[in-house]
Amino acid sequence: MIVIMSSRAGAREIEAVVNRLKGAGFEVHVSRGAEQTVLGVVGEDTPFADLALEAMPGVEKVVPVLPPYKLASRSYKSENTVIRVGNVEIGGRAVHVMAGPCAVESREQVMACAGLVKSAGASILRGGAFKPRTSPYSFQGLEKEGLLYLAEARSATGLPVVTEALDISTLPLVAEYADIIQIGARNMQNFPLLKEAASLGKPILLKRSPAATVEEWLMAAEYILAGGNGQVILCERGIRTFNGQTRYTLDLSAVPVVKSLSHLPVVVDPSHATGKWRYVLPMARAAVAAGADGLLVEVHPDPARALCDGQQALCPKAFLAMMEDVKKVAGAVGREC
Ligand code: PEP
Ligand code: MN
Repeated sequence: MIVIMSSRAGAREIEAVVNRLKGAGFEVHVSRGAEQTVLGVVGEDTPFADLALEAMPGVEKVVPVLPPYKLASRSYKSENTVIRVGNVEIGGRAVHVMAGPCAVESREQVMACAGLVKSAGASILRGGAFKPRTSPYSFQGLEKEGLLYLAEARSATGLPVVTEALDISTLPLVAEYADIIQIGARNMQNFPLLKEAASLGKPILLKRSPAATVEEWLMAAEYILAGGNGQVILCERGIRTFNGQTRYTLDLSAVPVVKSLSHLPVVVDPSHATGKWRYVLPMARAAVAAGADGLLVEVHPDPARALCDGQQALCPKAFLAMMEDVKKVAGAVGREC
């Protein structure tokens, strides 16, 4: 980092800052100009924010040189991280589609859905058993019963399962059934949950909060990596903007941005981002064209009867059409699907 001292800073103030940095284990190079003194600081092991340098007398500005996330960064690991789930490799050449209902509603619904998404070419089954609903009066999920249906659908189809853990108390139960543990957008900065989920050693799908910057999202991933679990799949699912036409705004630029900043795989959820099934197909195509490693898509055998997010669920026919298009786009950008 670089610490720029104010032009009014005296020798004593400069010395106090240098001492605090040296005390925290940093190497400090002092460069005295005619107007201002600038400190070049090497060895950023202590997060500089913890040193409260900007609160010290005489300090004008602290300029970080390295990003605050380390393990998640491309400079730490230059090659792409590939995450293996059964026979599926996320982050490799193939683009993987994770598809299924928003919520597991019944045994019949999830079995029908698993069969149809598999035959259309999906490689992972999604479905929530614990649902984070905005309203406490909305369907909250089948909980353990839902996990049992997901496990049955996995046995029947061979598709690995991604399902959400809402809190620490139900995390062990979810982890027993999930091949990938989903941390939802609302929980992206639930740091105790991230640490606990990391400790279970299973792949984690980390959704971006609608209010999070890319840096905050990568710092959330850093919690999992720092907890000793390198298997993080990032999921862009739309951010909050002033646009009222879609549920959120799908930040597709986050895909190339994150892929240049980090080695972690990135998937895109066009269902929650747009909130309308008609827009899912074009945004799924665009996501693959932008370099996404996969898609997370809501599919329902009968969207008009869905208990959750029916308006954004693809019916079986629309999902088939999406898969056809996504395969073509993947081929056009040097990937396969
Ligand atoms: C989901 O994928 O089921 C979900 C609730 O999404 P998000 O956390 O992105 O809102
Ligand atoms: Mn949903």
